[in-house]
Amino acid sequence: MSRFFSEKYARLEPYVPGEQPRDKKYIKLNTNESPFPPSPLVEKAVSEESRMLQLYSDPECRELREKMSEVFCIAPDRMIMTNGSDEVLQFAFMAFGDQRHSFAFADITYGFYPVFARLNHVPYETIRLKEDFSLDPQDYMGIGKNIVIANPNAPTGLCLPLSAIEEIVESNPDNVVIVDEAYVDFGGESARRLIGQYENLLVVGTFSKSRSMAGARLGFGFGNQGLIEDLNKIRYSNNPYNVNRLTAAAGIAALKENEYYMHKCQIIQANRQWTAGRLEELGFWVLPSKTNFLFASSGRIGGEGLYRKLRDRGILVRHFNQERIKEYVRITIGTMEEMKALVNAVEDIFADSE
Ligand code: PMP
Repeated sequence: MSRFFSEKYARLEPYVPGEQPRDKKYIKLNTNESPFPPSPLVEKAVSEESRMLQLYSDPECRELREKMSEVFCIAPDRMIMTNGSDEVLQFAFMAFGDQRHSFAFADITYGFYPVFARLNHVPYETIRLKEDFSLDPQDYMGIGKNIVIANPNAPTGLCLPLSAIEEIVESNPDNVVIVDEAYVDFGGESARRLIGQYENLLVVGTFSKSRSMAGARLGFGFGNQGLIEDLNKIRYSNNPYNVNRLTAAAGIAALKENEYYMHKCQIIQANRQWTAGRLEELGFWVLPSKTNFLFASSGRIGGEGLYRKLRDRGILVRHFNQERIKEYVRITIGTMEEMKALVNAVEDIFADSE
């Protein structure tokens, strides 16, 4: 730390992203990226748009929001486009959190929420998931705090039904409820159709997972016009050009080929089912996932040991050094070939330890 660093950030503990190693080629099952490339139109659109890079991007993302509107059936004035969904989450903590409007979220959930809270000096409370890692909606009823729920949740992969989300939103009318749907396309039910009914609901999504665009950074928020106006106030005070030209062009092209991505989501779900079955046969406890990853513990080897041994064999998974989940690893679902390699590696590790 330099002597110039502001005291207000001195105790900040930044988010630690999953590793992106360069030392050799790994089978990457650690950051929930898609194993599939973007759809064919995307490359062409990006290449064409690159001829316009001398010009700033459209701060209003008009064309992109119109295309979004067609695919998601949400009016363009009820959405905001951002640099990954991390950015809309950050904007939401900035816009809606302060000393009198604290946040609540699960103890086991996306690790960026507490970082955003601390970055913005927003007080927060974590609410313990049940022993089986499911979230009890009763714990969130009328709590008088802003709420963030990843649904489906990460890293557990578990999903709440839309009715439970609706009850939580309805019971906290004076607070914003943010539903982070980063993984919804792999089997969840989106809350976006409720935004017309509840002025306190913000639904957050991303192109990083089901739309194979993690590297382009494109996220979005759906909410009533009031919430979107607030978020835009923050956005225009940070970076009006938060979505760059190449990313906007890629997003528009991807939305034109929506079926391509929905088909890939089905493949991921089939691969997930196969992998969960094979891991269970090997004695793993596997949580029922509605995402593009599995959260599993082996019972034979601790989470960190398994992570290391898989890494030695060229396969990266994610381990979290957090008390309640340290026996688990989170495994992104890749191609069938990658999942077979994972299962073979696990068999190999178990054979070695016999
Ligand atoms: N929410 C959840 C639950 C996530 O797991 C992630 C991915 N790390 C994000 C949001 C952010 O994704 P992105 O910024 O790439 O849209």
